[in-house]
Amino acid sequence: MQEVFETLGIGDRNPGTSTGESFFGDPGLAAVASHTPTDGTRIGEVALTRREEYDLVMDRALRAFDVWRMTPAPRRGEIVRQIGSELREFKAPLGRLVSFEMGKILQEGLGEVQEMIDIADFAVGQSRMLYGKTMHSERPHHRMYEQWHPLGPVGVISAFNFPVAVYAWNAMIAAVCGDVVVWKGSEKTPLCSLAVQRIISRVLARHDLPEGIFNLVTGDRQVGEWMAKDERIPLISATGSIPMGRSVAHCVASRLGRTILELGGNNAMVVTEKADLEMTARAAVFGAIGTAGQRCTTIRRLLVQEDVFEEVRDRLLGAYAGLRIGDPLDERTVMGPLIDAEAVEQMQAALLRIKEEGGEVISGGEVLDELGGHFVRPALAVAENEFEIVQEETFAPILYLIPFRTLEEGIAKQNGVRQGLSSAIFSRDVGEIEAFLSHRGSDCGIANVNIGTSGAEIGGAFGGEKETGGGREAGSDAWKAYMRRQTNTINWGEELPLAQGIDFGV
Ligand code: NAD
Repeated sequence: MQEVFETLGIGDRNPGTSTGESFFGDPGLAAVASHTPTDGTRIGEVALTRREEYDLVMDRALRAFDVWRMTPAPRRGEIVRQIGSELREFKAPLGRLVSFEMGKILQEGLGEVQEMIDIADFAVGQSRMLYGKTMHSERPHHRMYEQWHPLGPVGVISAFNFPVAVYAWNAMIAAVCGDVVVWKGSEKTPLCSLAVQRIISRVLARHDLPEGIFNLVTGDRQVGEWMAKDERIPLISATGSIPMGRSVAHCVASRLGRTILELGGNNAMVVTEKADLEMTARAAVFGAIGTAGQRCTTIRRLLVQEDVFEEVRDRLLGAYAGLRIGDPLDERTVMGPLIDAEAVEQMQAALLRIKEEGGEVISGGEVLDELGGHFVRPALAVAENEFEIVQEETFAPILYLIPFRTLEEGIAKQNGVRQGLSSAIFSRDVGEIEAFLSHRGSDCGIANVNIGTSGAEIGGAFGGEKETGGGREAGSDAWKAYMRRQTNTINWGEELPLAQGIDFGV
């Protein structure tokens, strides 16, 4: 890994605050230490952003905003295009770092960097398509239209499980919209944030751009709270747990700011008796154990129609028996470790609760101490949708198998949780599929057919309903959330007709 660190400009002790190319923050002061979950060793430190440094970042961000918002959008797109190119160049080392610091397997680490590249490409095109509508006025010699203006500094607070991609979903789109970005990554993956900031700063250094277009601050929830309370930040895009989202939503709403919230999921796959069961099993395994069950879109509940329940269960038992768990950098590994010891404890506590509530763990769940680090065997459990533990998101590889009788009951169970991120149906019957996608079907932000709940592409708007927070990011028209809309009416005539036919008599 030493070569990766050198290529990415990461040392043992690192500054953790940056506006553009200027990194500061005394690494000798308080710092957050990063550990690899593969064996728990400390891999480096990043200095925490102090309050006065945070204010300095905000000053520079506001100054940069003044210039950046007046830079033509296609020119902003050109800078983002170059960031995409730089990410292509650094894809291999950055993907390795994601894998090493977060614990997801190398393919997934590289896939995350690819998502950054894809959203940069998307944003370049978007920079020429910040369209507003024109309307026909009810008054003669009048014209009406809507235009979209940049918002200001956008605060991005991100989670450990996607330490680089989610930032890019926000930052690349915000940048072409004319916003500047202040990013606080997860305190569990500070080296990934630092590496991304260094890659972006190389692009900024090649141009005569103001400091403070892309900014990094480092810290735990306290820094996030500064951002949530900060009236200089009109939009906070926060990704993380539901309690975090509640707290951020409360702070930002109390100052009448805006949020994009991307919070926890509790995703289900509905498998009917008309499903291709071979395909179902493959999708379920990938969806449940990918990123060791630490994706917001991980399949947590497998709702299976009674007639095929046993066959699906047996196929999964077979597949789970042969999984290769271990070093995420080893290309043969399919599941790496959990992020930390606390995550392992939470998984063990959840397994106990399944038993207490009357469920049965039919496979896995063991802590693999012999591998060092925070490795576990993924678990399969037969459970009921109504169990309290099933209603919660446990951020670990536990897949609940839940039987249902009719499709209507299956859909009701799929919807019968407080979260609403991602969902899927496996069926070859067009009527069943359309019922799942109808207004009475899935209530989630994502509803898939014959593919699992995870692995969203950047082209669509990403996000979920209910306690998942309602935000949308990445593709489609998600860009609109990063801009303010203005309606303009222009009178080019000689008269001053009033709307609604009002005559003031003056
Ligand atoms: P977390 O909530 O512990 O932390 C997320 C981020 O929020 C971190 O940067 C943290 O420092 C910050 N934070 C925590 N409390 C805060 C507060 N009160 N005010 C401001 N900032 C605060 O989440 P995590 O453990 O890093 O990530 C896992 C969670 O994230 C899961 O629930 C997962 O489903 C969710 N997630 C959701 C999506 C999505 O798109 N819906 C994507 C990734 C992860």
